[in-house]
Amino acid sequence: TPSVGVLALQGDVREHLAALAAAGVEAAQVRRPEELAAVDGLVVPGGESTTMSKLAALFGLLEPLRARVREGLPVYGTCAGMILLAEKILDPRSGQETVGGIDMIVRRNAFGRQNESFEAAVDVEGVDGGPVEGVFIRAPWVESVGGAVNVLAEHGGHVVAVRQGNALATSFHPELTGDHRMHRLFADMVRSAA
Ligand code: GLN
Repeated sequence: TPSVGVLALQGDVREHLAALAAAGVEAAQVRRPEELAAVDGLVVPGGESTTMSKLAALFGLLEPLRARVREGLPVYGTCAGMILLAEKILDPRSGQETVGGIDMIVRRNAFGRQNESFEAAVDVEGVDGGPVEGVFIRAPWVESVGGAVNVLAEHGGHVVAVRQGNALATSFHPELTGDHRMHRLFADMVRSAA
């Protein structure tokens, strides 16, 4: 059974651990470089991307994260996690760094204040059985992608799910629903990379 870590610096770690377990993989919290080195895949949760990137730097995880992602570690970022996996943020806060891994530019809080939180059915390429329930909480969208990036889903004309090689990202939070299809898709990516 592959072991999938959840970056446990900030954000909705517990919900991802439960969803991964339901998707049939071993799930473990990752806070230290040694823990990162031991996993076969990594989820970067939702939360607050500036805080997460600052804590990653503080915990000495930013460079190890960049290195493992560069080497092809399967990663899945939701919401703030999507922002962390972007090569570029359109409107970064000062000191906000990313891990990178997906050749995309993301816009933070893109869906705006009026719609700070909403749910919508989202059709995701590669996920069978009908649309997933997309939970969007101050969510980013993908402003533009490079040629190596597959767009998996759009909402309202904006890109909200992408994949590049072993890196997957969604603007929304499948870990907050009882639907584990996105986590099963990621578990399959981890199994085939292992
Ligand atoms: N708006 C948050 C950020 O910029 C992300 C929100 C979320 O993860 N639900 O980090």
